[in-house]
Amino acid sequence: MSLLTIITPSNPILRRKARPIADPRTPEIQRLIDDMIETMRDAPGVGLAAPQVAEPIRLAVIEYAPDSEDLPEGVEPPAAKLYVIVNPEITTRSEEMVDGAEGCLSIPGYAGMVMRHNAVKIKALNRQGRPIRIKAEGWLARIFQHEIDHLDGVLFIDRASRTWKTREDEEVEAE
Ligand code: ZN
Repeated sequence: MSLLTIITPSNPILRRKARPIADPRTPEIQRLIDDMIETMRDAPGVGLAAPQVAEPIRLAVIEYAPDSEDLPEGVEPPAAKLYVIVNPEITTRSEEMVDGAEGCLSIPGYAGMVMRHNAVKIKALNRQGRPIRIKAEGWLARIFQHEIDHLDGVLFIDRASRTWKTREDEEVEAE
């Protein structure tokens, strides 16, 4: 496996609409998925979309576990769950919207307040090309919306009500 270079908005691929993947089971796509997982973990980030590594195809990886500090005392935090989504589509969006601070690995040093649907349902293919359905709520739903936006060339700064430079000590999860 190898680490991939994460591109910034100076590379036009980040703004392009990504194309669907005919079959994710090719060695090239399988290697790309493994490299994207490694790159996301190294960054570190909670999600990475293929256009962020200059591949204009509809693929993203997400790995997220709620912070233990968000859980009641004594409750074990669940292990981080890894999602690989190919040709994802949001099929249902909650009416309820929530505001939250977002960052992006392609826009280092900045964060922004973005309104997102509190819950979404997604259909996609997994890395074996089999159909999957995912229900996501809260931060996980936010991450899915952020990554799927990347596949359409949309960045969080397009949706943010305000953006700011992050300080060294400020923790904003990057996607
Ligand atoms: Zn991003």
